[in-house]
Amino acid sequence: MPLTDIGANLTHPSFHDDLDAVVARSRAAGVGTIVVTGTTALESRLAAEIADRLDLYCTAGVHPHHARDFDQQTIAELRKLALHPRCVAIGECGLDFNRNYSPHPAQEKCFVAQLEMALELGKPLFLHSRDAHPRFAQIVRTHGVKQAVAHCFTGEAEELHAYLDLGLYVGITGWISDERRGTHLLRLVQDIPADRLLLETDSPYLTPRDMQPQPKARRNEPAFLPHILQTVARALGRPPEEVAVQTTRNAARLFGIDESRASLTAQRTAAA
Ligand SMILES: [Zn+2]
Repeated sequence: MPLTDIGANLTHPSFHDDLDAVVARSRAAGVGTIVVTGTTALESRLAAEIADRLDLYCTAGVHPHHARDFDQQTIAELRKLALHPRCVAIGECGLDFNRNYSPHPAQEKCFVAQLEMALELGKPLFLHSRDAHPRFAQIVRTHGVKQAVAHCFTGEAEELHAYLDLGLYVGITGWISDERRGTHLLRLVQDIPADRLLLETDSPYLTPRDMQPQPKARRNEPAFLPHILQTVARALGRPPEEVAVQTTRNAARLFGIDESRASLTAQRTAAA
């Protein structure tokens, strides 16, 4: 089953000691393609290094949490990283009005600068929006963004439909397994057209709470993507194999990844 994890924070310190084993496990689990998320200019550079070394993909961007440190120098660095052959998207960028680690005006400025750069370079966007609806959708609409994913969708129906109306892809994480705050997604996921759905772990965060046994230190990793696939497929009432093929195809289309290469990697690993 060729799966694509469109969002894994593999530059996180919790992966420093065993990253090669983590990636080997994910391939053995059928996750042949991983996009490593960039969250600052520095992390984006590290993401590109990891992608080079382990045959993965990466994004280049600044997360809204870090918007306060964003300046002209940052955008110049991102522009360089965007040209890296393994960089498939600009992001993670967007708005986070939940934690508010950066003031809203700084978040908007940082977000818009990355949107404009992505449009100029013809790159898709990896977008983060938390408690920022409807402002986030307004900005996306104003800029005419088309090729983008709203990653780790956790919102309600109205927000989901606003994103779908904008033509965005929607990324589903293990949040869907969270019995405290994610059960609404089991129903909402049915509203996402088959050709707009993407799967992601958001490792090392958001370990599916219903996975048994729970991993050590509750660290999430791309090898757990099949668990999310099973949950999503059950919610959709469709065979997991079908959802795997469809979501991998969607990721390949959005990010311009060679799909045959992605499934080859998975097959080669399975055969090894
Ligand atoms: Zn995010």
